[in-house]
Amino acid sequence: MSESPSLKVSTFRRGVHPDEYKNLTCHLPSQDLSLPGEVYIPLQQHIGAPCEPLVQKGDLVKTGQKIADSPAFVSSPIHASITGVVAAVTSFPHPLGSKLPMIHIKAEGEEQWELLSVPESWESAAPENLQKLVREAGIVGLGGAAFPTHVKMSPPSDKPVDHFILNGCECEPFLTCDHRSMLEDTDRILTGMAIMMKMMRIDQGIIGIESNKADAIAIMEARIEALNLKFKVQPLKVKYPQGAEKMLIDAALGRKVPAGGLPMDVGVVVNNIATALAVYEAVVDGKPLIQRMLTVTGDAIENPGNIITRIGTPFQACVDACGGLKDDTSQVFMGGPMMGLVQYDLQVPTLKATSGIVCMQSTHLKNARHYPCIQCGTCVDVCPMNLVPTRLSRLAETGKYEDCKEWGVFNCIECGSCAFVCPSSIPLVQWIRVGKVKSNEQQQKLKAQA
Ligand code: SF4
Ligand code: SF4
Repeated sequence: MSESPSLKVSTFRRGVHPDEYKNLTCHLPSQDLSLPGEVYIPLQQHIGAPCEPLVQKGDLVKTGQKIADSPAFVSSPIHASITGVVAAVTSFPHPLGSKLPMIHIKAEGEEQWELLSVPESWESAAPENLQKLVREAGIVGLGGAAFPTHVKMSPPSDKPVDHFILNGCECEPFLTCDHRSMLEDTDRILTGMAIMMKMMRIDQGIIGIESNKADAIAIMEARIEALNLKFKVQPLKVKYPQGAEKMLIDAALGRKVPAGGLPMDVGVVVNNIATALAVYEAVVDGKPLIQRMLTVTGDAIENPGNIITRIGTPFQACVDACGGLKDDTSQVFMGGPMMGLVQYDLQVPTLKATSGIVCMQSTHLKNARHYPCIQCGTCVDVCPMNLVPTRLSRLAETGKYEDCKEWGVFNCIECGSCAFVCPSSIPLVQWIRVGKVKSNEQQQKLKAQA
């Protein structure tokens, strides 16, 4: 897809321009995947406290029934995504690479739904009740971070928020599910955005969309006018990571989120397209979050497409629905190739935040062998967070975790831009992640000793 030359676009400083490969699927309407025969639903699919199971082996469950929850505020309940019988509550392979606790449900009988009770009209409902409903529906940020949405929608009183930004950037190469949703579910997404803004009692809303999605920009603008909404569509330059919250806020409003800060520190809350749709389905239709659209794509998949699938469906079922993998498949990612996670087992389930399954042949992959740093400074030039990736990586590699903190390791958003441009193929992000984990452990140890 090429950038439309007629649009006045905004952007942030630095960043990279990876090849997009979105034309594999951006023109393909979404398709409902037939109901899976079994699902594996992890007890933790969000930032915050994990859930405890509310069901046990042998229980019959309906679609939409709450099957796990936590009393913690920063947490989000889990719901059955198919009707059937609980086959096990134990650990299974997870996309993060280890075995983690999940509820395994085998389909049985006709599909039966358990819906949420919803207000007659969301317009007259109290914001607090809408927040409770969004929590009950198990909605988390579906752009990848999986932060519980009800928490984001309840900023503390000392952080006044005046703008809501709906994130329609979808800047990761290959992924097109948000693009398709904007074309296919425009009114429901706009209403979901209005509901979220009512929850926060704010009336200034911006929809940020990269200018390579000219059709989405046009339909959003047309429907905003037809529905008499006050939202503004902000076309953005096609650049990675334009969809990262801090970059999006900078591009759309010119506000800089301070290092270590949150969007609400500059009066903004950002949420993703799929999250707005999930909020609409919960508040208007009474449907908890049990399914989502995701893109199954890459040059190693036979028939790339955008599919709507139940949470917990094994990757294998999604891949099979798209014609299966080609013989020379080298890597499968959950998410896009810039921030996604490489998968080793296609029995792992889709999560609430799974926006794509990208399957690659070796021609797309970076050289697995890496070479010494040649001090070219390219990684520094592209880092959108003004960090020095080469230094951070070296400090982590040599175990200097205190220095990692001093050099701002916790400000890294793990966008992968530095590794993308490195001519020596140094796994910069992997080392930076190690630096974060180890610096954090060191901090906890010091706190415990104090
Ligand atoms: S250091 Fe972090 S924020 Fe900077 S480019 Fe690398 S991954 Fe992105
Ligand atoms: S881009 Fe790679 S080779 Fe160049 S300075 Fe950064 S780490 Fe070193």
